[in-house]
Amino acid sequence: MVNPAAAARRALPSVDRLLGSAAVAPLIDAYGRSRVTESLRSALDAERIRLVAEDATPFDEVRFFAGCAAALQSGAAPSLKPVFNLTGTVLHTNLGRSVMPQCAADAVMAAMTRPVNLEFDLTTGARGERDSHVERWLKQLTGGDKAVAVNNNAAAVYLALNTLALRREVLVSRGELIEIGGSFRIPDIMSRAGVKLVEVGTTNRTHLKDYADAITPRTAAIMKVHTSNYVVQGFTAAVPETDLAKLAHAHDLPFIVDLGSGTLVDLAQYGLPHEPTPREALANGADVVTFSGDKLLGGPQAGLLVGRKDLMARIAKNPMKRALRLDKVSLTALDAVLRLYLHPERLQHELPALRMLNRTADEIAAQAARVLPAVAAALGDRWRVTVTDCKSQIGSGALPVDSLPSTGLAMTPALKKKGNVGVLASAFRELPVPVVGHIKDGTLILDLRCLDHEGEFVEQLQHLNVGKA
Ligand SMILES: *Cc1c(COP(=O)(O)O)cnc(C)c1O
Repeated sequence: MVNPAAAARRALPSVDRLLGSAAVAPLIDAYGRSRVTESLRSALDAERIRLVAEDATPFDEVRFFAGCAAALQSGAAPSLKPVFNLTGTVLHTNLGRSVMPQCAADAVMAAMTRPVNLEFDLTTGARGERDSHVERWLKQLTGGDKAVAVNNNAAAVYLALNTLALRREVLVSRGELIEIGGSFRIPDIMSRAGVKLVEVGTTNRTHLKDYADAITPRTAAIMKVHTSNYVVQGFTAAVPETDLAKLAHAHDLPFIVDLGSGTLVDLAQYGLPHEPTPREALANGADVVTFSGDKLLGGPQAGLLVGRKDLMARIAKNPMKRALRLDKVSLTALDAVLRLYLHPERLQHELPALRMLNRTADEIAAQAARVLPAVAAALGDRWRVTVTDCKSQIGSGALPVDSLPSTGLAMTPALKKKGNVGVLASAFRELPVPVVGHIKDGTLILDLRCLDHEGEFVEQLQHLNVGKA
């Protein structure tokens, strides 16, 4: 008895024969022989399974190679790539926080492809200090005596505590024992830094006396943490920095302030809510201030420490600094961004983070009106798209209660229950440059505050596949 399916399977070409065929040569060029071999083998396995079905169409070499080429291409594509952040959160931690200015990208390009004087003093020809490249700007911009740069602000907090309070106690208000982004918790960092946390006061109210009563010979520092991602409202009390500094200094203790976001300029001059600056914290008596490079500062991921010379010198000498230090690429980007701050009047145009935070609702509304027809056309008549008012957030914990009036596109099914908003959201994420929005009350909202590259956004809508939504 003849089994046609079995015969078709036996007739499949061998991997060796396929490797020799002309159609495979360009694939070997692009992806290498071993990856192509592996891909042919697994495609042949799939073919054998497919041919078991009685009504299976016969083996088609052209289609077979096209399938292999597509699989190889998608397997080799980068998984980390640009997206459109239309979530409404400007400094979105999961989407890489701040977008950097072109001057930083240009500087980084040179630093990546050429040798640089990272730790080399060009005047003396001797060994140099890697942080010196950013320290000069940080001193100027904050008033600190000395600056140190590490991998992120969690590392900065760790390094300050581990240097100044190892095996001793640090006083922190119970109202400031924060968790950020689910992975940074002040109490956990403290214990890993080898420091004993002493909680003072209560969640909503902490007084100067609470700190004073907690000071013992084991106390190494007083720390204040900027409660960046929440506010304690109602019957509350916190001790001003100036009072905490006086108390710390009366006991010969350093006063550490973790600012979190920390911007280098007064945001109020750009019509944004005020966020404390390192300069203010130092002027209030802080001895060491820590803050992030990629939150409101608008630069690369980094943790920055500024403050008193003697304490900062000890921090710089901590052996863990070596493990937490910044690389040449981030230092170069940070240098470029800090230099923009030397011209505060240009900052709101040249620093993308600030430019996006500064866009007015009217400006965004005009953009919404421009892109609406293209979005409506791509969605077809099963979806209704309207321009909607919405509220953007700054993100990354900065200014948690303040939101910025913005404009977005709202998408709902034209006929109730005839469309799946979740599937529509995933179709937007499958675009060549994925578009990330957010769903609220059964509506997909694309907040246009951060829409740069408008032409590219519109152009790629032709690939939007709303078939399943
Ligand atoms: C964000 C934040 C941190 C952590 O900073 P990373 O740069 O994300 O490591 C620490 N403390 C505060 C108060 C923060 O807001």
